[in-house]
Formats: sequence, structure tokens, C-alpha cells
Amino acid sequence: SVLIMVSMLSVCFLLASLALRAPLSSTAPCCRNKLLLISFDGFRWDYDQDVDTPNLDAMAQDGIKATYATPPFISITSPSHFTLITGKYVENHGVIHNMWFNTTTGEKKPYYMTQFVNEWWDNGSVPIWITAQRQGLKAGSLHFPGTAATYQGEKAHLSEVEPRFYDYSNETQWRENVDKVMDWFTVQHLDFVALYFGEPDSTGHKYGPDSPQRRNMVKQVDRTVGYIRSVVDQRSLTDHLNIIITADHGMSTVHRAPVVQEITLSKIPGFSFKDLQFHIVDYGPASLLLPKEGLLDKVYNALKNAHPKLHVYKKEEMPRRLHYSKNSRILPLFLYADPGYVINGLIPVQFNNGEHGFDNDAMDMKTIFRAVGPDFKKNLEVEPFETVHVYALMCHLLRIQPEPNDGSLEVTRNILQTKTNEESACSSISICFGVLTQVFIGLTAAAGFLVVVFVIITVHTVHKRRKSQHRSKKNGLDEKCPKTKQSRF
Ligand SMILES: [Zn+2]
Repeated sequence: SVLIMVSMLSVCFLLASLALRAPLSSTAPCCRNKLLLISFDGFRWDYDQDVDTPNLDAMAQDGIKATYATPPFISITSPSHFTLITGKYVENHGVIHNMWFNTTTGEKKPYYMTQFVNEWWDNGSVPIWITAQRQGLKAGSLHFPGTAATYQGEKAHLSEVEPRFYDYSNETQWRENVDKVMDWFTVQHLDFVALYFGEPDSTGHKYGPDSPQRRNMVKQVDRTVGYIRSVVDQRSLTDHLNIIITADHGMSTVHRAPVVQEITLSKIPGFSFKDLQFHIVDYGPASLLLPKEGLLDKVYNALKNAHPKLHVYKKEEMPRRLHYSKNSRILPLFLYADPGYVINGLIPVQFNNGEHGFDNDAMDMKTIFRAVGPDFKKNLEVEPFETVHVYALMCHLLRIQPEPNDGSLEVTRNILQTKTNEESACSSISICFGVLTQVFIGLTAAAGFLVVVFVIITVHTVHKRRKSQHRSKKNGLDEKCPKTKQSRF
């Protein structure tokens, strides 16, 4: 019976040690929190300063607020969003414009249709959702620019592209999208989701950044932030989900004639559209021109210094700080206007009251950066940084190896809880250990209980046997105790 007891105990210890060992080989689920990246298109950095935004304020109290964030140049939607999810400047990720174009055929596709031009997006860089999936995580994207494309044959595990004529401002739809994303996290067990809202960009364009309509739309954004955080709480995700809210650019009020002298290329002496093979003009403040063979200098000289608010650069002379030169898709001549001005072609055909696409040094182009969640410090406002660094931060939060990129984790490390990588991994392991210790205590208690039961029954049986042997001897019978009964233990 002592032998049996020892073997039983050793089985218990073996079980306990197995339980201890198994989860240690995969500590990642203990260390890694989920991540939600949200973009509110065209949310200028100071949009919360002339509107009551209780929910954005509460989020800043509970987490991180950067004074502002600097988007990449060119500060338009697709290029800037692709910087967020690749960590590369526009010249390095290749999505150099909202519009796909072909300089030979003259074809152009608008923003929405360009979403479906696979090769426009898939040209050497992969968004973070692909990188995450390649490293064993599950990722999704809802309406985020770049969602429709496949990258080297891969797509987000769950993705949704908005229909062609989508109302980007419908608040009910926004809440349905939030609910869907929360399902992706809790039911589908995704680790990362990129979520896009088309406002307050549309309202900022239409009515201008200083309009009451824009202020109302910022209130809607704020309500949505409150809704997101309440749903996160209801789903018990608060301690397991990091949330980053940022955007692609700001917005600037457009001035019109006769208040200002507008920039209209056809009116510039010595300039002729006949000298161009291809062009993108009438698209906010930035233009790309491809002069006909041998006419580059003629076009350049005509445009250079033609208007005090117009900057004209040969591609290779673009200021390095703009990181918008070293890509074969960027055309030989690049023009951009100062804030307040757009570049018109033949005649003014742009009637937006607000525009973006300006120099990313301009304060009107700055956007927001907010973050909240278990990995972020609380109630901290930090110095401005470039959105090109958000990618490295996200990779760190997801505990994945980033692709080569232009950003650096060092820029945002001060917003993270002060634990080092190892320490936080250790504390997570110790959480695992805590759980395992309880499991171990439970197993030991059960084993102990079994041992006690075993001892009682053995003692009882031995005692009974002795009594019966004693009785048998007395009765002259040699009754044998059946061995099978003992072997049951
Ligand atoms: Zn945008």
C-alpha cells in the first residue's frame, strides 16, 4: 500500500508539473493585448478646442494625448493612411496619390475606384494586418484605406470595404460598425483591427473647418468615442484592448477671388497645357505634371515664381523633409500651394470651402493622436510627433516584428507604461504563474484528499482483514482477502 501511495503521489506531481510547463511555452497570449486603430478622416489637431468633447477629454485623462501629430506629405487620405499602417514615408510606400493614373493612356481613377486597383497598393510594402497575420495573429480592417487590396496574395482575415455610394456621416451606421468590430474582437478573437470613419473630412471640405457644421460633426465623433469606450467596457475589453485614435491630415479654409488672387495655371504667362503629356491638377493644393519630351525646363521656368503662394519643384529638387521624391510614380514636376489656396487648371472648378494636401509643416495639416489602454500611461500629454512612427508603436503593442520602416519606437516609448519589454513579459509570466499556482494548489489538494481517503480505506481494510483473520483463525477457516479489491486504488 505504501508503494501505491508513492506512485499515486508521483502521478499527481507529474500532472501538476505538466500543467505548470505547458503554458510557459506560449507566454504571448498573457503578454499581448489587443489593438484597435481608429482613424477619423481629416480630424484637425485643434478640432476639440471650440467644441465640447467630454468623451475625448475623458479618454485623454485615462490615457495619452499628443499636442498634435504630423502627417506625411502629401497630406491626403490614401497616402497618409498607408503611412500609418506601413510606417513608411509616401515616397517609400508608393501610394503617392488618392488617384491611380496611367501617364501613357491618360486614365485616372478617383479615390474610391483606386481602392480596387490592386497593384497601386501592393507595390512592395505590406500593411500591419498582413505582418500581424504572418506572425500568427488574427487581424481585420473595416473601411480603412488599403483594405480592398491583396498584398503578395494575402488579405486581412476579416475585412469590409464600404459600398460605392456610402454615406460616411451616418451615426447609426457608425455604431453598427463599432458593434461589428467588437464582435471581431470577442467572437472572432481578432488581435488587431483598423477602423476608418470618413468624417469630419467630408463636412470640413464642404462647409470649411470653421463652420458650425464641422463643429457638429466633431460632436458626433465625440459621441462615437464615448460609445466605443462604453461598448469596450460592456464587452470586458477595457483591460485587454489598446485603442489608438488618429487621422490622416487636418483641414484649411480655402480663400477665393476676389478676396485673394487665385492660382489658375492657364492664366500664367508662358505656360500651356499643350506642353504637357499628362497632369493631375484641380485636386486641392497639389499638382503633378509630366511635360512632353524636352519641355520640362520650359514648363518649369514658366511656373517657377509665377504666383507668390505657388511652390514649383522638379522632382529631384523637392525638399528632403517632405520625403516625396524618390519614387518612380512621382511625376517630374510637382506643384503645391500654401494653405488657403488650391491649384486650378483651365478655370476654377473646385468649390470646397476646406482643403488639405498642403505642406505637412502647416499647422492646419496637423492631426490628432490619442491612445488609451492597458499598455499606455494615464493622463499624459506629450510633445508632437510624426504619424510615420505609429506603425512601430503598433508592432510593439502587438509584440510582432515590424517590416523595415521609416519610424522609430523610441519616439513614442515615453507614452508606454514604464515597464521594459522584459519586465512586462515577466509580470505577465508571473500572472500566468499566479494562475498556475492556483491550479497546482488545487491539484495538490485533490491529491492530498485522495491520499487521506486511500490511507483511511487502507487502514480500515487492514483492520477489517486482521479482525476477520483473527475471527477465521478463531473459526478455523483460512479466508483470503480478494486482491482485486486492493488493486482498485
Ligand atoms: Zn483624408
